[in-house]
Amino acid sequence: MRNWQLGLRNELNQLADKNLIRELKSTAHGTNPVCVREGKTLLNFSSNNYLGLAGHPLLIQAMQNTVEAGSPSSRLLVGNEAKTQHLEEELAQWQETESALVFSNGYMANLGVLSSFLDRKDAVFSDQLNHASIVDGIRLSGATSFRYRHGNMNHLENLLKKAAKKGFRRKLIVTDAVFSMDGDIAPLRDLVSLKEKYDTALFVDEAHSVGTIGPQGKGLAHHLGISDQIEIHMGTFSKAFGVYGAYVAGKKDWIHYLINHSRSFIYTTALPPSIISAILQSLKLIQQSDRSRHLLKRKSMKFRDELSKYGFNIANSSTQIVPVVIGDSSKSLAFSQKLIANGILSVAIRPPTVPAGSARLRFSLMADHRDDDIQNVIESITEIGYECGVIL
Ligand code: PMP
Repeated sequence: MRNWQLGLRNELNQLADKNLIRELKSTAHGTNPVCVREGKTLLNFSSNNYLGLAGHPLLIQAMQNTVEAGSPSSRLLVGNEAKTQHLEEELAQWQETESALVFSNGYMANLGVLSSFLDRKDAVFSDQLNHASIVDGIRLSGATSFRYRHGNMNHLENLLKKAAKKGFRRKLIVTDAVFSMDGDIAPLRDLVSLKEKYDTALFVDEAHSVGTIGPQGKGLAHHLGISDQIEIHMGTFSKAFGVYGAYVAGKKDWIHYLINHSRSFIYTTALPPSIISAILQSLKLIQQSDRSRHLLKRKSMKFRDELSKYGFNIANSSTQIVPVVIGDSSKSLAFSQKLIANGILSVAIRPPTVPAGSARLRFSLMADHRDDDIQNVIESITEIGYECGVIL
């Protein structure tokens, strides 16, 4: 055990030397535009509560009105509450799919989809910047993985051509709709064309787009009017919905297949009824949230435009997720610390969450952010940017 202890300590020291060590910071009201972190009150630009629903009185009331806090077992034993099935019917209707299935969270949904539909006989084509849960799901599946350069359809097509000669059983393209660390959007129309051309299924992770994009917050695929051409949709309840959990939506047989094969669905306890009640309520609110979506869009656009104007590298962000790419991890940490000193929270994101050499601050806008606060934040970022030599 002593060797273990020394080895672990050594590795942690190495991470610290490279400014890559992570520590948990005590945070209160982390879903709000103003939070308290380690005793300090900060303007919060790191929350995924994009529409401000996490603290909505109707969601809290829905939870309080649900007698059971806990769940008795997994869904296939006695955890299949009528309320959960009702939610799945509502989700399928909202997403205009035949069927939907609730998962404990988005991570488990992605693991479940990829490891159920694919195995060693199959091929999967994944955007280089897809979320870690997609990367892990692919690993778990054992399928041959082709990673295409971020958003690069020529590269993807070359890989599809290459794979076509190899006689794989099934082929699947998988992409985030909105990329979680860059805030840009996937070229879904092109992906649909390629998947048709090469007889491939398409799986889209709409974690950051449901609630925020599209009619009634249905997501990017609906916004583009191509939802029915995508085989599997996934969305989370942990971001714009302001609750917890996730869903997968698609045709009946695909969902039934997951019920029979997805280990991250079968072998885990069902979400508690209190959470399901809150999600049901949130689904109603999400559909009526055009005004919040409009505010979020307007505020995000202003934030992006101002930062680009000052010369910051905001990648290709076109959403409420706005990175300020700095490159160096220690510089990003220092930038974040200076923002904290100015009363602003934007957590530094470092490798391996983002590729080496692309450490950054990741700003998440919320519909509830006040315009004058946003303006002050832009000014602070700019001052610190000059001071740290991030902009000239
Ligand atoms: N996909 C993407 C694109 C995400 O950003 C996240 C959350 N960070 C997930 C999946 C996982 O979702 P959850 O937090 O519900 O596990």
